[in-house]
Amino acid sequence: MTNRTDSVKQELERLRSLISDYNYQYYVLDDPSVPDAEYDRLYRQLSKLESEHPDLVTDNSPTQRVGAKPDSGFDEVVHELPMLSLDNAMDDEEMASFNRRVQDRLAIKDDIEYVCEPKLDGLAISLLYENGLLTRAATRGDGMQGENITLNARTIRSIPLELRTEVPPKRFEVRGEVFMLKSSFEALNDEARNNGAKTFANPRNAAAGSLRQLDPKITAKRNLSFYAYSMGIVSEEFELADSHYERLQQVKELGLPVSPEVKKANGIDGCLKYYQDIMDRRDSLEYEIDGVVNKVNSIKFQERLGFVARAPRWAIAHKFPAQEEITQLIGVDFQV
Ligand code: NAD
Repeated sequence: MTNRTDSVKQELERLRSLISDYNYQYYVLDDPSVPDAEYDRLYRQLSKLESEHPDLVTDNSPTQRVGAKPDSGFDEVVHELPMLSLDNAMDDEEMASFNRRVQDRLAIKDDIEYVCEPKLDGLAISLLYENGLLTRAATRGDGMQGENITLNARTIRSIPLELRTEVPPKRFEVRGEVFMLKSSFEALNDEARNNGAKTFANPRNAAAGSLRQLDPKITAKRNLSFYAYSMGIVSEEFELADSHYERLQQVKELGLPVSPEVKKANGIDGCLKYYQDIMDRRDSLEYEIDGVVNKVNSIKFQERLGFVARAPRWAIAHKFPAQEEITQLIGVDFQV
């Protein structure tokens, strides 16, 4: 082995180990020690190095998996359909490359129809309804296995315990984001400060920390919210629509909340217009968002595009510029 390969291996090891530690602090302890922008920089550094040395990619690299292993305090839930993450586009140019890749893979020159959704800054969960009743709720965990948080999810008022339909599907899995309103987050941290307790870094960590409580009575007091954004396993007798947008309407008709900000858009121009519009209104929204998720609307196209290791090829998170970096630029220290 050459010295060069040795030093690349060492650097890969260093990055993987650092990122694994940060994942554990963020996903399991809900207590990150570095700003997201710093994490994202290291993650991109690792991805770049791996793409230059594909023979050195290992199965357990953080780039090949999602999140972190579930916490042992909860029962485990195995996801029948893995809960994946999303690839990121950090600017308009990366978003345009994503759109070109989609067009090339589908061999389509016309504008692709997308569904644009706010990227809610919370945590992903899966809700399973059996014969219309909520029987199980689980966190994403490492994508394959999550935590059974059914009792906690039942305390969230916007999650129906029963679907609104006369003839419920045998099985119906909905996926979406649990998040905390900015106002609830401020109130929670005010209370923590008054009691001399630890405050949460941001609404995302507050939502995750509140949902992943071993005592559901604590979760019940935290005022969490939920928006659905996709379906998981659905039993065969239920007739699914053939576009993502219409499937979200089906989810809504069954009684689950879907963000009113979800819109259809034509091609890259439509996506960028939506992004600009929602970024302009970002501060006036009641909840935090850290970007926009653009999804190919046609399910047939989604199936043709498929997945890579940790994300679908038919969706991308177009992120807003990192707020922590802006904070650092104006000379205020980042506090977690
Ligand atoms: P992600 O947050 O970049 O994107 C995937 C997630 O987006 C989904 O799992 C879902 O929860 C969420 N989402 C919100 N709205 C959605 C919508 N409309 N449709 C679909 N999904 C939607 O990916 P991730 O793997 O959860 O987390 C990675 C990010 O977390 C990093 O980019 C980093 O910013 C942050 N992170 C930070 C640290 C740290 O130490 N600071 C550690 C780990 C991760």
